[in-house]
Amino acid sequence: MRKPFLAGNWKMNMTVSDALDMVKVLKEQVADVQDRDIALCPNFTVIYPLAEACKGSPIAVGAQNIYWEAKGAFTGETSADMLKAAGATYVIIGHSERRQYFGETNETVNKRIKCALSNGLKVIMCCGEVLEEREAGNAESVVKDHLNGGLAGLSKSDFDAITIAYEPVWAIGTGKTATPDDADAMHAFIRSELEAMFDKDVAEKTRIQYGGSVKPSNVDELMAKPNIDGALVGGASLKAEDFARIITFKA
Ligand code: PEP
Repeated sequence: MRKPFLAGNWKMNMTVSDALDMVKVLKEQVADVQDRDIALCPNFTVIYPLAEACKGSPIAVGAQNIYWEAKGAFTGETSADMLKAAGATYVIIGHSERRQYFGETNETVNKRIKCALSNGLKVIMCCGEVLEEREAGNAESVVKDHLNGGLAGLSKSDFDAITIAYEPVWAIGTGKTATPDDADAMHAFIRSELEAMFDKDVAEKTRIQYGGSVKPSNVDELMAKPNIDGALVGGASLKAEDFARIITFKA
């Protein structure tokens, strides 16, 4: 049985004080949640105070990116050691906004994943097609390319620490959600690719989150699908009440 995993990607939103106000409320609302994993992924500047505030709660903290070198002259970058020392246990890698605006490629995704894993951080690796690719019938081949490139050279045991987030880019922040059936079909495809690349055990144990305009009103039907094991949530993770409702989806 895969434990549901609900993660919030705050992107470039929330100052330290916004974050502490939000999490004060969220902690009360999810204090008793044990059967689901929860993470919040704020901007780098917020990781340390948020991780301190989340101590003793079921909420873990993650970063939105990582650099693969250990230290040195890499202005603006953040290493695995820095993330861990600040209290992060997860890192989102390969988000479509990083691919679209910051030159992220399958190769750099792969380097970041290897670095995170070798330093004991858990990874949420994003994949997903843009609208033109879906309309051209290429959604599966794009996702396959993201998986093959991003996960190249990993071993089966690495999958104890990897979650895949399927995020159709056309559904991110647009209010458009893939239908639960469409999302489930792509998740099943991702699982079959994991089996082809690794083995059945990896395919069965790896959690696959859906991301793209997940909100309180659609989370229950998405989570009812057999291959959807959680959600990576942008906009609706900024409000404590909304994210609490998503975390406590009705199974
Ligand atoms: C995201 O950016 O990971 C995301 C899914 O955003 P939203 O929920 O706002 O569509």
